[in-house]
Amino acid sequence: MIGEKNRIITIANQKGGVGKTTTAINLATALAAIGERVLIVDLDPQGNASTGLGIDRRSRELSSYDLLIGSHSVADTVLQTAVPNLSIIPSTMDLLGIEMEIAQHNDRVFRLKRALAAADALSYSYVLVDCPPSFNLLTMNALAAAHSVLVPLQCEFFALEGLSQLLETVDQVRRTVNPRLDIQGIVLTMFDSRNNLAQQVVNDVRTHLGEKVYHTLIPRNVRVSEAPSYGKPAILYDLKCAGSQAYLQLASEVIQRERQRKAA
Ligand code: ADP
Ligand code: MG
Repeated sequence: MIGEKNRIITIANQKGGVGKTTTAINLATALAAIGERVLIVDLDPQGNASTGLGIDRRSRELSSYDLLIGSHSVADTVLQTAVPNLSIIPSTMDLLGIEMEIAQHNDRVFRLKRALAAADALSYSYVLVDCPPSFNLLTMNALAAAHSVLVPLQCEFFALEGLSQLLETVDQVRRTVNPRLDIQGIVLTMFDSRNNLAQQVVNDVRTHLGEKVYHTLIPRNVRVSEAPSYGKPAILYDLKCAGSQAYLQLASEVIQRERQRKAA
């Protein structure tokens, strides 16, 4: 059955700059490092996940655009990254036009789900989908295809406000196109312990959302922000830095939640 063999986790937040792509890249790298076969699907026309994993624009002949259009399969569009066990379906600016191109089709929300259900996607144990910063058709495809959604939340004043909107959208997706959609968890990113407000935000989010929030706090860390310009995950660029260590810890929480789900 679809979804029994692999786990599709969509990384979503309609706000930009909250750490979606950084989380996709480093969580994927951490999972790959312990021997899981991992696929990232880059669904953001900006292509930051592709660039951050060192995928040159010239090598992106086929992309997630071709996957959603339906002309090519996972096997056709996938590229191996420099990280063993980690592959990516890159994105290109072509994705900007996809909404117009598939809007008239009844299956427009299920394009990614269908592509990932094909046999060639089942050899990956984890598929992480990196979303653009909006609730558009691309994000809807990612939510419709997923078993669960992982939400990065930046430790700042307006964090909770955006979150309630996101949780409403998740509910709506559950009611309409994807009843199985779970919340994998909420990860607090770019935490700065010297900032009192950040600590207050952490407390508020934990009070409101309880166990949905991972114990791991991702610190604001300059090494994490430098890594993409070298085309490397932070975990490869500087394994010892606090940001990389936090992402390793997050990966073990994600795995633990998966084990609990299987046991349930
Ligand atoms: P999104 O994908 O949600 O737009 P990104 O992951 O691209 O967000 O992060 C936005 C910016 O913040 C990027 O420049 C990224 O390098 C930086 N960044 C993300 N996480 C951290 C962190 N833990 N510490 C420092 N900078 C970070
Ligand atoms: Mg991004």
